[in-house]
Amino acid sequence: MATETDLSRGRQVARQALVELDDVSQRQVACGDDNLRSTLQAIGQRKSGQAWRLLAWLQQHDGHMPASQGQQPTAPRQPGEAAAAAEPGPSASGSESPDSVTDTPHAAATADAALVIERRDVTPDLIVFRVARPGDFEFSPGQSVKLGLGDIRRSYSIVSAPHEAFLEFFVELAPGGQMSEQLRRLQVGDTLTLGPPKGGLRFDGRMPNHLMIATVTGINPFISILRDCLHRGQRAHRMVLMQGASYQDEFGYRQELEALAAAHPDLLTYLPTVSRPDEARNQGWTGVTGRVDTLVEEVLTHHGLEPRDTLAYACGHSGMLESVAGHLHPRGFRLETESYD
Ligand SMILES: Cc1cc2nc3c(=O)[nH]c(=O)nc-3n(C[C@H](O)[C@H](O)[C@H](O)COP(=O)(O)OP(=O)(O)OC[C@H]3O[C@@H](n4cnc5c(N)ncnc54)[C@H](O)[C@@H]3O)c2cc1C
Repeated sequence: MATETDLSRGRQVARQALVELDDVSQRQVACGDDNLRSTLQAIGQRKSGQAWRLLAWLQQHDGHMPASQGQQPTAPRQPGEAAAAAEPGPSASGSESPDSVTDTPHAAATADAALVIERRDVTPDLIVFRVARPGDFEFSPGQSVKLGLGDIRRSYSIVSAPHEAFLEFFVELAPGGQMSEQLRRLQVGDTLTLGPPKGGLRFDGRMPNHLMIATVTGINPFISILRDCLHRGQRAHRMVLMQGASYQDEFGYRQELEALAAAHPDLLTYLPTVSRPDEARNQGWTGVTGRVDTLVEEVLTHHGLEPRDTLAYACGHSGMLESVAGHLHPRGFRLETESYD
């Protein structure tokens, strides 16, 4: 009979195991050497199996877990497994499908009690958290899902990629906002409801160049797309990713993106920019300054991006999307947008 202490210990170790699993996965995707990559893949598979056994045990014993809603646990995906199941064509072994457009998966589960397994505070008003992914929850990179707490439901873009064993979210806590104030108190061990994945930005692999424009949490679908591309060995594209924020501490994924850009310079250029360079909070910032919408034309020129070979995407609040469209549409660029309001 599992005691509350056993459950608490199990949750802590499960959380740690998923963090380690993610760390191995991150190092694997950023790795240039084939031998090291396959060693890391083997380590990831072993850790994935161990995490799975622990999650299955928790699911059996813990009222918070999705299994209490009658679902059967599914093992965390092995590298390559999800990609092969979700999308015909490209394999995880490094082959490329240049004409792939990410499809909406055919099956998607909802969950009444997805367990929060990790929370990271980026600033007092920006948090990253992960929930255990229900075994049959399928989605495409770039999609969003409605999260529910009590009787409040709001849409959030999924940051994680389909091959990852958790769902990750990066949320701006709007002061006074109904969901935001509940999420401010969110703790590991809490549960959220998950609606089916919806809409979102779809990566169109038929285009060689991708200009991705975001403000703060608008980066989310692009991270999902990027992690997925790397996992599937899609390295033939060029992504120029612009992220604007008021302050330098709001780039919640800066380390990951800078590491990926350094490891894959032909694939990714990451351009964070702060719009209030003179404020004390930005002291020491030596990077680009200005708003993404006012910088977009300069970026087009500097990176030689043309409408015939570039697809542009923008994600964030509608004001930014309209302004970016005002710069790109007259030049003939196709622009896909996701509005957060
Ligand atoms: C497709 C989609 C994807 C999204 N993805 C993300 C994402 O990945 N990350 C993310 O952070 N957001 C995302 N959003 C936005 C998110 O859905 C919510 O709109 C946001 O979290 C605010 O919800 P809320 O319930 O906290 O605010 P609400 O209660 O809905 O309030 C809306 C606004 O009014 C203000 N307000 C409300 N009450 C008060 C008050 N008493 N005093 C002062 N101001 C008040 C709030 O500050 C807030 O800005 C997405 C939206 C969509 C449509």
